[in-house]
Amino acid sequence: MSIENLSAVEIGRQIAAGKVSSVEVVKHFLNRIETFDNSVGAYVHVDGDRAIDRATSVDRDIKAGKVRAPLAGVPVAIKDVLCTSGVPTTCGSRMLENFVPPYTATCVSKLENASLVVLGKTNMDEFAMGGSTETSCHGLTRNPWDPERTAGGSSGGAAACLAAGMAPLSIGTDTGGSVRQPAAMCGVLGLKPTYGRVSRYGLVAFASSLDQVGALGHSVEDLAAVMEILAGHDPKDTTSLKTDVPAYRGLLEQDLKGVKVGLLRDQIDHSSLDPEIAAAVDRTRQQLEALGATISEVELPYTKYAVPTYYLVAPSEASGNLSRYDGVHYGYRADTSHSSDQTAPLDAMISASRSEGFGPEVKRRIMLGTFALSSGYYDAYYKKALKVRRLIAGDYQRAFEEADVLLGPMTPSPAFRLGEKVNDPVKMYLEDAFSVGANLAGLPGLSVPAGLTESGLPIGVQLQAPVLQEQRLLNVARSLEQAEFFKPALAPKYC
Ligand code: GLN
Repeated sequence: MSIENLSAVEIGRQIAAGKVSSVEVVKHFLNRIETFDNSVGAYVHVDGDRAIDRATSVDRDIKAGKVRAPLAGVPVAIKDVLCTSGVPTTCGSRMLENFVPPYTATCVSKLENASLVVLGKTNMDEFAMGGSTETSCHGLTRNPWDPERTAGGSSGGAAACLAAGMAPLSIGTDTGGSVRQPAAMCGVLGLKPTYGRVSRYGLVAFASSLDQVGALGHSVEDLAAVMEILAGHDPKDTTSLKTDVPAYRGLLEQDLKGVKVGLLRDQIDHSSLDPEIAAAVDRTRQQLEALGATISEVELPYTKYAVPTYYLVAPSEASGNLSRYDGVHYGYRADTSHSSDQTAPLDAMISASRSEGFGPEVKRRIMLGTFALSSGYYDAYYKKALKVRRLIAGDYQRAFEEADVLLGPMTPSPAFRLGEKVNDPVKMYLEDAFSVGANLAGLPGLSVPAGLTESGLPIGVQLQAPVLQEQRLLNVARSLEQAEFFKPALAPKYC
């Protein structure tokens, strides 16, 4: 079997057994990137020499018996919102097009300490604001399953590089669905951990009370292995949780007897849900039932307000977080020295830098957020949204009194056409109907492949669990995987 068809853990096993070297694996993926990425656009930066150097030293350490980590020598792709020392980190924005961070995000350092090899940085919607990877200053990412369609977003590059076999594993971020939605649209697994489970240090902030780092991969074992590396407290991120990290991989089990699955009836009956996705949720339910799970129906009545709530909370936090990009502290600086109006040169420079540095979606969010926080509107919008956020969390709490995990759709539709929604923000925002709840409530969510549409596009279904119960998600997904309900799959053209 060719390397791109192996899971990350299997590649790690073969490297450890001396069947293949990390350098060979890294070169294999670099070749595939060279061959295919022109037509996909998953990567914005690939540093082959750096990756090969790193793989060489990992190979040396393995030979000397110095490392035994399960993923040692395995390549990984990193979303371009995570800081990498000495390597450009642009967030898909002209504002940061020349930014080379002097430090590395904790999650990336942890991967490097576990001897994984960073292949490159993946494309994303500008500042992670979007659901289609069409707003990046580097150009769009195409879905390997159909080049006329979106790979999802904002971590579109992270999902597309897996679907085209241009990396075995990738790291994304999820503020309102950005790991899970592209995973669903590209036919891979995507896990958003509990808020605070993975350090956000070195993650360029979008909405700090929602942002979380997550992983995308082809197998449940891969996600479990990478979560063992990523999870855990980091003194550099005060919101990271001080709780032990389970041995996710060792604790994987597939017995569903006694597991209570709550079916999200209101989401399945949602008017915007594509019937083929509803059918996939139903197939998943039947499979789980056949494997011994008990199914009941649960409701999250306030979820219908999740999209408006999210689009008040996230832009409000973004408007504050993005105020640092003024052409002085950070980022793109417009040249206003020749402007005829020199009455307030600093103001003019800041304003021109922000006007030229940010794209239209980012500006829209900053304006939305600034408006929602402004005096006179704060109570009516931002504060109200926080109250509804609380009610949404309460819904989940009640649902988890009846169920161990929740099952529902991940996205309203399979991958939509490029250009279809990007100029209609409301349409684009409504794509997040099923994903933002987990972020607002701080819960873990996992997108699991659940077959293809008749026209051959991947479908994902979503599993959600209570705070810190990632293991439950992995176990349920594992049972589906073992029953061959889904199999790791590259898009047909890339097999
Ligand atoms: N699509 C959502 C948004 O545009 C989610 C983005 C994310 O999770 N980064 O905000």
